[in-house]
Amino acid sequence: MYPQGSNNYQINFSGLGCWLTVLGVVWLLSAIGLGWIVKSIAFIVVLILVTPVLAYFGFRWWLKRNLIEGNCPVCETQLAGIRNTQTVCPNCRTQLQVSKQGFARFTPEGTVEVNAVDVTDGNRSGEAVDVSVEVLPPGDDEN
Ligand SMILES: [Zn+2]
Repeated sequence: MYPQGSNNYQINFSGLGCWLTVLGVVWLLSAIGLGWIVKSIAFIVVLILVTPVLAYFGFRWWLKRNLIEGNCPVCETQLAGIRNTQTVCPNCRTQLQVSKQGFARFTPEGTVEVNAVDVTDGNRSGEAVDVSVEVLPPGDDEN
């Protein structure tokens, strides 16, 4: 509990009173030859204010260069991703590689892309079906 009175003034450092206090302190420090303190503090304040703005615009610039928008090659869902990263399509769970050109199916090492053609009696249309065959890593008992 603070008693009402002189303490109240220090707590309510807001609005015009705050700036008047700052100006007063600046004037006082300049008057006694400590202007460099003001300059350093001002520099730090400007730095604190400017850094997030620069970081924001830098991030925006970086995002513009690296954010790739495109469609999932499997299910055509609209996707956005960071260039040169891997992502998973939220719709069909396909692993995707994000490149400058867009999204491509990510093919892990040991996977063989196979174009299988269904030639059974019921289906003679010769429709090609994309099939990914994953070659499992050799087991420990291979030796
Ligand atoms: Zn998909």
